[in-house]
Amino acid sequence: MKNYFLLVFAFLLFSCADKKSVDAQPRKPKNIILLIGDGMGLAQVYAGMVANGDALNIERFKHIGFHKSYSSDNIITDSAAGATAFSCGEKTYNGAIGVGTDSLPRETILETAEKKGFATGLVATCTITHATPASFIAHAKSRKLDEDIALDFLKTDVDVFIGGGKDYFEKRSDSINLLDKLKANGYGIATGDAEILAFTGNKLAGFIAPLQPDSATGTRGDILHKATQKALDIVSKNPQGFFVMSEGSQIDWGGHANKQTYIIQEMLDFDKAIGKALDFAEKDGNTLVIVTADHETGGFAITGGSIAERKVQGEFITTHHTGVMIPVYAYGPGAEEFQGIYQNTDIYHKMMSLLGLKK
Ligand code: MG
Ligand code: ZN
Repeated sequence: MKNYFLLVFAFLLFSCADKKSVDAQPRKPKNIILLIGDGMGLAQVYAGMVANGDALNIERFKHIGFHKSYSSDNIITDSAAGATAFSCGEKTYNGAIGVGTDSLPRETILETAEKKGFATGLVATCTITHATPASFIAHAKSRKLDEDIALDFLKTDVDVFIGGGKDYFEKRSDSINLLDKLKANGYGIATGDAEILAFTGNKLAGFIAPLQPDSATGTRGDILHKATQKALDIVSKNPQGFFVMSEGSQIDWGGHANKQTYIIQEMLDFDKAIGKALDFAEKDGNTLVIVTADHETGGFAITGGSIAERKVQGEFITTHHTGVMIPVYAYGPGAEEFQGIYQNTDIYHKMMSLLGLKK
């Protein structure tokens, strides 16, 4: 009997000690990988899941929340204001790239991370000057200013960027060759998938297309997960840590086109990149992976289909974006911070605080 009480006492002591460590400050990540599926609402995720045999890498996340995506001037955000909320922590007007409602620049998480000695990277399946990646490194009153946005890639020492839009760097109306300037700053320039994947240096400007890359249903191939892995190979050399944003850019375009096959193929392509990020984070143990979208596109709904036949019957309510709440999936140290319902701008604040960064 005496032994029994001792055992109970020991158990209580242990469980209290255990509880204390669990309730303590969340463990901080050294690295953050932010994956953005542009235009990816719940129906887009689920359509991909059904088409893939009722399974996706995104199911590996255990901490899930929702963000409110509205911009400063509209219940329905665009990708520029949506990404600026993540990169700068402020709601701004639709079309704004890394600027506030006053059109003045705000320092982005990528710029702060770079200044503080972190390695940084950007990957996208659109032009690298397009709204989502641009909002992490550039400051422009309008998302349409691609050539101005390209100039901003010379102002921050981002370690790697991979996407389309090479023409905005070398075939410019001002005749300035930004590729020469990038080379002078120590970048290797890689054009096309093979050159990008063969790159072994420390600073990479990788271009997968002169302007917009093709779709996943077309000729683009499966560069997104490979480019994401390449970016991780480069930035993970930095012992201090890294911040990488990788975008499945064209889920949105499938939504605008009201083409569900386009959405599904882009979703499956993006999910492979999610798989690479999770594999890295599982092995590393110090990496937080966050997957979210800026907004939903198309008002896509699943109105029929078959799990057994992997078939989706979808319908659309608009060719534009919609204003629904957007899921956020998190894995790794600090992932529990992303549970609940919060503003899109809180994703910036949570990431900054977890990396121990201040503007
Ligand atoms: Mg985008
Ligand atoms: Zn869109």
